[in-house]
Amino acid sequence: MTIWIDAELCNGCKRCVKACPYEGVEMRDGKAHILERCTSCGACIESCKQKAISSDAAPREIPDFSDRKGVWVYAEQREGKLHSVSLELLGKAGELAENLDQEVSAVLLGDGVVHLAETLIQYGADHVILVEDPCLLQYRTVPYTDAMEMLIGRFKPNILLMGATHIGRDLAPRISRRVAVGLTADCTELSIDPDEKILLQTRPAFGGNVMATIANRYSRPQMATVRPGVMEQKECPGKQGEIIRESISISEQDVQTKILEIVREARKTGDLSKAKIVVGGGRGVGDADGFRVLEKLADVLAGEVAGTRVAVEEGWISADRQVGQTGQSIRPELYIACGISGAIQHRAGIMNARYIVAINRDERAPIFQVADWGIVGDLRELVPEMIRQLESA
Ligand SMILES: Cc1cc2nc3c(=O)[nH]c(=O)nc-3n(C[C@H](O)[C@H](O)[C@H](O)COP(=O)(O)OP(=O)(O)OC[C@H]3O[C@@H](n4cnc5c(N)ncnc54)[C@H](O)[C@@H]3O)c2cc1C
Repeated sequence: MTIWIDAELCNGCKRCVKACPYEGVEMRDGKAHILERCTSCGACIESCKQKAISSDAAPREIPDFSDRKGVWVYAEQREGKLHSVSLELLGKAGELAENLDQEVSAVLLGDGVVHLAETLIQYGADHVILVEDPCLLQYRTVPYTDAMEMLIGRFKPNILLMGATHIGRDLAPRISRRVAVGLTADCTELSIDPDEKILLQTRPAFGGNVMATIANRYSRPQMATVRPGVMEQKECPGKQGEIIRESISISEQDVQTKILEIVREARKTGDLSKAKIVVGGGRGVGDADGFRVLEKLADVLAGEVAGTRVAVEEGWISADRQVGQTGQSIRPELYIACGISGAIQHRAGIMNARYIVAINRDERAPIFQVADWGIVGDLRELVPEMIRQLESA
């Protein structure tokens, strides 16, 4: 494919220079000029308001998706209990569906899980597509992928949202591969483009330094995952919905994996994503003993302890306590950040906290830019004093 510029039409606005991700356009004598490093990506063509840039590539046709209807949420359940992220996604799905004038469906797979359907309806599902089968009693990649592929083929949804949980991170890429569509993982915002009516999927990119918005014009369903705690649950009391029962033709012989035993990790601590108060620690905490002091503060406040990636890498807290872009997203009422600089990757996980208190001895630490209250000082003095005052209060 070749790209060329009509010098007569080019007014030297430099939009194409800025639009080119590969520095493949430069200005010469006030006119744009295509360089050898041009990859023919076409970004300059879209940016040119003068219509001065052309190419010999035929524009890709957008298929007719008028038969693709409905916003689906994969209702993740384990042992008959719904994961909170599914209810959070139903809230967002309701907004998206309203913008599209379509309906919300929750897809519930398992065995003996019909009792969960009513909760899904009360959190916004117009329909619950239910598949109950002994093969689906516990999550296994292949039968769950088979079931989802079959349902997608049968109902042709427009959008499919899944939680970025351990299960979601396993299942979503499998489904997207099977039905040959793209997948945007770990979205922090979802909305509908008002003109094209397609899903705009926003997520951090380039190590969290930019927010990228991704849209999919050419395939359906548009698939995205969202981490727990990012979206808000919206209860819809009194809502009426319909349960649609479907069956699958999978037998145990077709499934090559068997679950022999489930070994649960002993866990002293509670669920971070549900905690009302979280005390977070970073490199400034200094060592594992420093974290014992933070645990004490969390205990006094009936909260949970979390930390930065540095704290995890140092072995001061376990990986499931990491908050941020590659850890968990939390939405507590109060987040107390102790000895945390406030790197963008950490902030990505706390942006839904209602109030943030930061303790840092460096008054220029970026955490203070997002904190509601900031205390400049040494946490080794301040945290024990907070515990003392709270205990005596
Ligand atoms: C792709 C990618 C993904 C990442 N994902 C995550 C993620 O999910 N979560 C995450 O947290 N990070 C993540 N990171 C790492 C992130 O960029 C930062 O390196 C990290 O968050 C910094 O951790 P910190 O604040 O503990 O340490 P530092 O940045 O070293 O900050 C320590 C702070 O403690 C203060 N301090 C020191 N001593 C004291 C004291 N006695 N009293 C008070 N304050 C004190 C210092 O002034 C400093 O501000 C990611 C990075 C990349 C590239």
